[in-house]
Amino acid sequence: MPKCQNCGHRWSLKDTCKIAFKYRGTSGRTCSRCGDKQYISKKSLNRIGIAAIVSLVLTVVVRPLLPQDFGTSLLLAVPLAVGLIVANLSLVELSNVQQGET
Ligand SMILES: [Zn+2]
Repeated sequence: MPKCQNCGHRWSLKDTCKIAFKYRGTSGRTCSRCGDKQYISKKSLNRIGIAAIVSLVLTVVVRPLLPQDFGTSLLLAVPLAVGLIVANLSLVELSNVQQGET
């Protein structure tokens, strides 16, 4: 999980999910310990963007090779989706300043 750039507090999974999936780094989120506003760093936004493109390409490439029945696809898709979410969260880095827009 990312650390607050102001006080070094390691953010909880819940707070990281909120900034990663809800705020997308645009409005930021206050640190639960020091109250300082934190944003997703531009570097990690870029990495999350690349990860999203790579996973999309992989899905398109791998999909025809997978079994076509719904149950097996679901069995494969659920851990894959969880893995992608965890990978996204591990890419989140916090910043004291908003860097999302140039
Ligand atoms: Zn803090």
